[in-house]
Amino acid sequence: MKCRVCRGPAVIDIRRHNAGFCRDHFLVHCREQVRRALHDHHMIEEGDRVVVAVSGGKDSLALWDLLAELGHDVDGLYLGLGIDEYSDESLGYARAYAAAHGRKLHEVDLGSDLGFTVPAAASATHRSPCGACGLSKRHVFNAFARDHGYDIVATGHNLDDEAAVLLGNVLRWETGYLGRQHPVLPAAPGFVRKVKPLVRLGEREMAAYCVLQSIDYQVEECPMAEGNRHLGYKEVLNALEDRSPGSKSAFLFGFLERAHSRFESVASEEREALGACRECGSPTTGEVCAFCRLQERASSASTRDEE
Ligand code: SF4
Ligand SMILES: [Zn+2]
Ligand SMILES: [Zn+2]
Repeated sequence: MKCRVCRGPAVIDIRRHNAGFCRDHFLVHCREQVRRALHDHHMIEEGDRVVVAVSGGKDSLALWDLLAELGHDVDGLYLGLGIDEYSDESLGYARAYAAAHGRKLHEVDLGSDLGFTVPAAASATHRSPCGACGLSKRHVFNAFARDHGYDIVATGHNLDDEAAVLLGNVLRWETGYLGRQHPVLPAAPGFVRKVKPLVRLGEREMAAYCVLQSIDYQVEECPMAEGNRHLGYKEVLNALEDRSPGSKSAFLFGFLERAHSRFESVASEEREALGACRECGSPTTGEVCAFCRLQERASSASTRDEE
């Protein structure tokens, strides 16, 4: 296979583009896809302060790298989930990247800063760890950005992630989630803007990007991932993509172009109905937000366990 641009030997082929790329042109391709996502969805305006949600995995480290390559001055935020060695190792990759590239990494630890871990929250609530994890990430990244003067949280959700979430939302016709499923969620009272600049790039491309840029990342899967519904949706979509390359991006971008606006009003009505949490001030439908309720249950269960 040859590079589509220079006809030199290709290091990767991307079937949905029906194209191969050499190393240099693949890196150009990645930058171009991010540049287009930023431009098409007006993700970052001049003067915006951006923090990247860094997990130590390939997507978030590639995102940090790509945004910096495109000239954006962005800091990172690592959230420690307390998932044993997996979390320690992931933090190690995030720190190593930040140190090697002279970038600022903030760290928040659920255990030492907020009094509970993801495994403790899962056992206290008898729910899947991923539910507690997702809720904690959304809450902490937003609250940290808001309280530290950042305008935007950028996350490493890629094309595969977004297509899998869309499939899950469509299967259940989650109209509010469908209205919020977009590469940009605008700022609103209590919320900073959320952007997903990797939405035009697939999982395999992000792994290749890290390898070619010599970025070490956490390759192990999270040990709590077993019950994660999205992994099943990804398998289904990968089978479709195998038979018909381009299906995933047609599914996601077709939705964004032709269907998303039909659900936007549901999402904005939900947002308008939000008040401030009595404990932390974050937007919520009740008196106390879901994160504070989780924190209360999980930290009191952890304290009881220690006694
Ligand atoms: S697999 Fe679940 S618990 Fe593990 S990091 Fe992902 S969302 Fe969190
Ligand atoms: Zn080339
Ligand atoms: Zn709260």
